[in-house]
Amino acid sequence: MHIHSIMQRGAALLLPIAVLLSSCGTKKDEPMPPPKPAMTFQMPRDVPEFSGERTFELLKKQVAFGPRVPNTPAHAACLNWMVDFLRPLADTVRVQEFSMGGYDGITLRMSNVIASFKPDAKERVLLCAHWDSRPRADREKDSSRQRIAIPGANDGASGVAVLLHLAEVFARICPTVGVDLVFFDGEDYGREGDESMYCLGSKYFAATVPEGYAPLYGVLLDLVGDKDAVFPQEEFSVQYAGDIVRMVWSAAGQLGVPNFKVQGHGGIIDDHHALNTTAGIRTIDIIDAELVGHAAADPRRKYWHTLADTPEQCSPLTLGRVGKVLLHVLLGTKPV
Ligand SMILES: [Zn+2]
Repeated sequence: MHIHSIMQRGAALLLPIAVLLSSCGTKKDEPMPPPKPAMTFQMPRDVPEFSGERTFELLKKQVAFGPRVPNTPAHAACLNWMVDFLRPLADTVRVQEFSMGGYDGITLRMSNVIASFKPDAKERVLLCAHWDSRPRADREKDSSRQRIAIPGANDGASGVAVLLHLAEVFARICPTVGVDLVFFDGEDYGREGDESMYCLGSKYFAATVPEGYAPLYGVLLDLVGDKDAVFPQEEFSVQYAGDIVRMVWSAAGQLGVPNFKVQGHGGIIDDHHALNTTAGIRTIDIIDAELVGHAAADPRRKYWHTLADTPEQCSPLTLGRVGKVLLHVLLGTKPV
């Protein structure tokens, strides 16, 4: 994902023009908020254990393949492993293959993976993360290291690991609503500043959603494994699905999970963006936002898009907490 500052400046420049065009000076140019979904949330009881240790194993398993960069053997091997992992757990597993032109004239071959529970249920929730990892460590200080692909332990593998363990839980207890676990490819391919080459899988998914597919809400997990993770309320999430942000952060508060902070953070272009803007699926991003751009005060936490994005930065505790919150949110979601 990348920081949204450039687009924010662009929007600020456009605003006076829009106001001039508006005949009576009212805020006609503001987008209409999407309708609220037909659901309620009640904190569930008897929620099964979500194992942070198991999730950490699944994170390390992905990293052990090597960087999951499109068109590499590690990418292909990890894809096969994920599909084989999910097939016996989910009701349906679909691989959405797509290809497009990459840098230097190459053709990128990519795959989104969609594992569904209760595929016929009309009331559904979409949970997603990106399974690819970044082909270049462009935030390394030493320029000779900037062309090496990153391990992507937190940036990629952490969110995927939470979803994979959730699949194991849902195979044992049937969720109340239908669940689609969507693993996006090609999120982290773009060169810094080249927004068109980020979030390739989610853009493809959003542009091709079947008619009538309308989840109650979506939750994206990105950078959810750090030992000292901090999850503020990212701006696009609040803008498009503020009620879902409040529901999730309130559940975290009730569960005593301290990483979810009730404080705002600027918009980040991530896989939730196309889901909100193209597919109309109201999706929030749970993201350790201060890692992005190395804004964290702690020097240890300045490893985003470097070769130091390793399992050692992550902890079973954080992964377990994120999974616990998600599991409660899922099981407490009731269609009305
Ligand atoms: Zn990244």
